[in-house]
Amino acid sequence: MIKGVLNMVRKSYKKTKTRIRKKRKNKFFSYAVIFIWVILLGTSIGIYSYNHSNKHTKMVIAATDNKNQNNRKSDDNRLNKQNVDNKSSKNDKSDKKDNNVKEKGSIKEKSNITDKKDSSIKKKEAISVVIDSNKKVENKKVENKNTQQSTTEQKTKSTTIENKEASKSKGTENAKDTYDNVKKVKFNAENKVIVIDPGHADHPNLEKEPIAPGSKTMKIKDGGGTRGTFTKTPEYVVAMKVAKKLKTLLEQKGFTVIMTKTDNSVSLGNVERAEIGNKANAALVIRIHADGAANASAHGASMLVPALTKCTAPIYDESKRCGKIVIDTLTKEVGMYNRGVVYRKDITGFNWSKVPVILIEMGFMTNEQEDHLLNSPDYQDSIAKGLADGIQKALTP
Ligand SMILES: [Zn+2]
Repeated sequence: MIKGVLNMVRKSYKKTKTRIRKKRKNKFFSYAVIFIWVILLGTSIGIYSYNHSNKHTKMVIAATDNKNQNNRKSDDNRLNKQNVDNKSSKNDKSDKKDNNVKEKGSIKEKSNITDKKDSSIKKKEAISVVIDSNKKVENKKVENKNTQQSTTEQKTKSTTIENKEASKSKGTENAKDTYDNVKKVKFNAENKVIVIDPGHADHPNLEKEPIAPGSKTMKIKDGGGTRGTFTKTPEYVVAMKVAKKLKTLLEQKGFTVIMTKTDNSVSLGNVERAEIGNKANAALVIRIHADGAANASAHGASMLVPALTKCTAPIYDESKRCGKIVIDTLTKEVGMYNRGVVYRKDITGFNWSKVPVILIEMGFMTNEQEDHLLNSPDYQDSIAKGLADGIQKALTP
C-alpha cells in the first residue's frame, strides 16, 4: 500500500519536473526568437536611416557652419559697437540720469558698408552712411570735376544704392527721408548771437519734462551735476566761472552773447534753456559742463552734439560741424586729451533746440589732476580762450 503510494508520488514528481523543463525550454526559445528579431529589426532600421540621413547631416553641418560664421560676424560687430559704446560711456556721467542707450551716430559713420547683410543693427548705420555719401557727392560736385572725382562719385553712388536697398528692407522710420525733407539750419556768418548755457544749479530740480517735443518720455530737469572728488567743488561752480570768462572773450571778438542765467541759484529746465536759444535765433548755443566717472583715471574733454533724429534733423549738420571745430581747437590749445564728438539723442536740451547746439564736457572732476586743474583760474581762462577761439573759427567765414 505504502509502496503504491510512494510510486505514485514519485511518478507525479517526475511528470511535473519534465513539464517544468519543457516549459522552461519553450520560454527560452520564444525569448531567443524575439531577441533575434529585435536585433535584426534594429540593424536594418539603423542601416536605412544612416544611408538616408547622411545627406541631411552634410547639409546640416554646412548650415551650422554658415550660422557660426554669421554669429562670429555679428559678435565682432557687437564687440566693435561695445568698444565704441564703452568709450563714449565714460563721457556721459555728467548727465547721470541718462539711460545707457548710446547714440549710434558715432558708430554709424565708422561702420563698414560691406557688413550690411548681417543684422538689423547695420540697417541704421547704412542710413547714415547714405547721408554722408550724399554729402560727399554734393561737396565734390561743387569743388571740381576732375576724373578722380568721377570715379569716387561712382563708387559713392553704388554704395548709396546698396545702402538704400539695405534700409528699404526694414520697414522702420527712415531717418534719411526725415533728414532730406527737412529745412536745415545753415551756417550764417551774419548771425553773431551766441547763447552760453552754464550747466546745473546749486540745487537739483527733480521736476520732469518731455525729453523731446511730442514725446511721452519724461526726464528730470536737473540731476544736479557732478562734483570734484578731491576739491569737492560742485560742477555748476566751475561751469559758471568758465561761462562768464567765455562771455567776455566772445564779446571782445564782436559776438553778441546771451547767458541763459548768471546766478547759480537759478534752476532751469532743459526745455527752458533751449527756448532761450530758440528765441534769440542763436548762431550757436554752447552748454558748459564738466564730466564725472566711476573710473578715476577717465580724463579729457568731450563734445556732445545732437544725434540725427526726427526733431534734431534741422540742426544736426551745423551742430556737428561746430562741435568738431570747437573740441579740436580747445583740446589743441589747452593741451588736454580729446575724447571726440559724441552724438546724443537723449538730451532734452538738444531735442528742443531749433538752433545749432553743442555741449562741452571740459574734463573729469572725478580725475585728481583734472579736478584740481578745473578749479584753477588760469586753467579756466585757457579753457574759455580755447572755446572762444573754436567758436570764432566755426562761425567766421
Ligand atoms: Zn553737467
